[in-house]
Amino acid sequence: MSTTLKGKRIWITGASSGIGEATARKLASEGASLVLSARRKDRLESLAQELQKQGTQVSLEPVDVSKRQDMEALGERLKQQGGIDILINNAGTMPLSPIVNGRVDEWEKMIDTNIKGVLYAINAVYPGMAERKRGHIINISSVAARVTFPSAGVYSGTKFAVRAISDTLRKEAIRFNVRVTDIQPGSVDTELPDSIQHEKIHQAVKTNMYGEDMAILKSEDIANAIYYALSQPEHVDISELLIRPTIQE
Ligand code: NDP
Repeated sequence: MSTTLKGKRIWITGASSGIGEATARKLASEGASLVLSARRKDRLESLAQELQKQGTQVSLEPVDVSKRQDMEALGERLKQQGGIDILINNAGTMPLSPIVNGRVDEWEKMIDTNIKGVLYAINAVYPGMAERKRGHIINISSVAARVTFPSAGVYSGTKFAVRAISDTLRKEAIRFNVRVTDIQPGSVDTELPDSIQHEKIHQAVKTNMYGEDMAILKSEDIANAIYYALSQPEHVDISELLIRPTIQE
């Protein structure tokens, strides 16, 4: 274990599965104390039990990141508890479909979760970081923040937005000594495709991008990339990291 994260209080959104869950394990093993959030309380509880047994200090904040008032209330609670040193802004959803299908509810869900949720989380902790003149915000965008593909118009739009917000925030946060990193994963083997309700697209994505025999990324690969960004000396800001499986174009 290195000493970089010892005593740091880290909030991970979307910690109930996939990249968030693996990141919680990795950062716990590096000595951080954790605030874990997501909607599925049972999943958070079993992860917390596992980490607490290993000596990690964990608190749970089951919250829907798209609910502005709940996120503001959570921000207030975190402030009362002394604030957050590092935010892993990871919660997201990907109900892909062609735009012609007009699945407006799904578009709104992606915008509310992937853009507004990311902003609400930043707003909950960034003013405190700016005041204390230290902090690190890691936003999880995607390779889809750089390239688009059919059926991913809205998803890509949300991830382009996260990348743009991250880069602007990084420039603004320099004077507060707050670091900002945008992590851009390619295909990672997680539950993310389960959010695709469009049957044909769901099948196509499972087969072509997440097929059983394909050596796509594991959540732990992204957790390692997050740790790499976090473990740099204070004068180093890893602004962006694009991580693809070797087989992905
Ligand atoms: P998972 O589906 O495994 O994890 C998504 C996490 O987000 C879950 O913990 C889920 O928890 C949480 N979440 C979703 N909606 C909400 C909400 N409204 N409020 C609170 N939490 C929410 O997928 P991944 O681990 O793959 O996804 C993590 C991030 O990585 C996402 O932002 C995704 O876009 C991004 N990404 C993933 C890639 C991949 O190939 N897997 C590639 C590129 C980027 P719960 O349902 O309990 O609320």
